[in-house]
Amino acid sequence: MPQTQRPLPPVPSLSEHQQRGWRCCWCRYPLSPGYDQAVGEVPVKPPNGAAYTVFLRACADTAECAEREKQQHPEETP
Ligand SMILES: [Zn+2]
Repeated sequence: MPQTQRPLPPVPSLSEHQQRGWRCCWCRYPLSPGYDQAVGEVPVKPPNGAAYTVFLRACADTAECAEREKQQHPEETP
């Protein structure tokens, strides 16, 4: 089943928990084993500081995730 690729959120906007893969990178839901999926490695290059990579994770249930994300960003602007 092909999965729709959602654009990853900009890493600086994520909380530490999200950057560490403890919470969903989109809806901030606390993740648990079996209920999450890896969504990608994102290289981060701070303007001053060493570059690093974050390994983002997200809810395995993308439909529920999208629903939660909507509730958290009701007035999201593009
Ligand atoms: Zn989620």
